[in-house]
Amino acid sequence: MKYPEEVRPYSKNFRGQHSLKRDEQGRERCTACGLCALSCPAEAITMTSAERTKSEEHLYREEKYAAVYEINMLRCIFCGLCEEACPKEAIYLDGPHVTADYLRKDFIYGKDKLVEPKFDITKLAKD
Ligand code: SF4
Ligand code: SF4
Repeated sequence: MKYPEEVRPYSKNFRGQHSLKRDEQGRERCTACGLCALSCPAEAITMTSAERTKSEEHLYREEKYAAVYEINMLRCIFCGLCEEACPKEAIYLDGPHVTADYLRKDFIYGKDKLVEPKFDITKLAKD
């Protein structure tokens, strides 16, 4: 195939980059329970939890949230156990494949790369 002009279709079982999901109101679903990190055989996930304040109720679904959430993509073996362990439907391996880079530190993906983009709730209601 003439990659990158042509791209081979992915299998239905393809596991790509993780994405941290939002609920129907645009709030982050992750409650920093740590079950994904506990179930990860590669010890690739680390996080720091924080307490939600009154003014942050529109940002985080639960009282506790992940202030820091990082996955080391060089450690990850894309087994999907973190996805299976999550009780909040907060993490899925449904992103694109991990792209090449030069420095090891650039393979530690933080919330800036993992949390799915914010969407406009008012626009969503109109659709
Ligand atoms: S896919 Fe597997 S190895 Fe990768 S972060 Fe999740 S549990 Fe760990
Ligand atoms: S992604 Fe799911 S399992 Fe992992 S800390 Fe967040 S809520 Fe818990």
